[in-house]
Amino acid sequence: MNCLDVRRVLGGDPTARPVALVAHLAECPTCARHAKQLARLDSLIHRALSVPVRAAAAASVEQTARPRWLALAAGLGAAAVLAVLSWTLYPQPALATALVGHMGHEPASWVRTPVPASPAAVGYVLGRAGVALAPEAAQVSYAHSCLFRGWYVPHLVVQTPGGPMTVMVLTHEKVPRAMRIDEGGYRGVIVPAARGAFAVLAPAGTDPAAIDAVVARLASVVRYTG
Ligand SMILES: [Zn+2]
Ligand SMILES: [Zn+2]
Repeated sequence: MNCLDVRRVLGGDPTARPVALVAHLAECPTCARHAKQLARLDSLIHRALSVPVRAAAAASVEQTARPRWLALAAGLGAAAVLAVLSWTLYPQPALATALVGHMGHEPASWVRTPVPASPAAVGYVLGRAGVALAPEAAQVSYAHSCLFRGWYVPHLVVQTPGGPMTVMVLTHEKVPRAMRIDEGGYRGVIVPAARGAFAVLAPAGTDPAAIDAVVARLASVVRYTG
């Protein structure tokens, strides 16, 4: 198993630990760190979602002097909650910069490969965000549920004639109109979608027409299921 295989497996299930994956984690510090962070985030999110409404309400009554988010922060770990808050309050022009910053986390996904990601993993990653891909969609070689600005979003790599390109399905981001991205060694676009937005990123130097071709197909192959 190589780094890309590991990301694919963990993208489908952050807690999966098949033997080959365990062996890779033992000798690859980068993947080991990634696996640990994913497992931690996953359990944090589960705990956050399982806070009973009644208990949360009682806590806020008892602690009227403190804002509710502070009481929640005490239970969840202040750093994690503040991180989510700061993503939520991020000013919109920072979206492009956040996307470019996110690209640096998954260098192993940027490969030209004929091997598709497993349909089960792609389905899981998309389903978690309430979306699905039409069968005629471009070949997906990588799919990962990424925590991005407070939400789990599908991060895909599609194999196109213009090379591998990253597609992020951002159902929670509102963009008033298409924005070009040209920074940090990447070129791409963020466009409004039926629900939220799509972002397509490729290495700087990629033909903008090749990027636009991927964007043009997205609207017809992405379905909203949730
Ligand atoms: Zn690795
Ligand atoms: Zn990602």
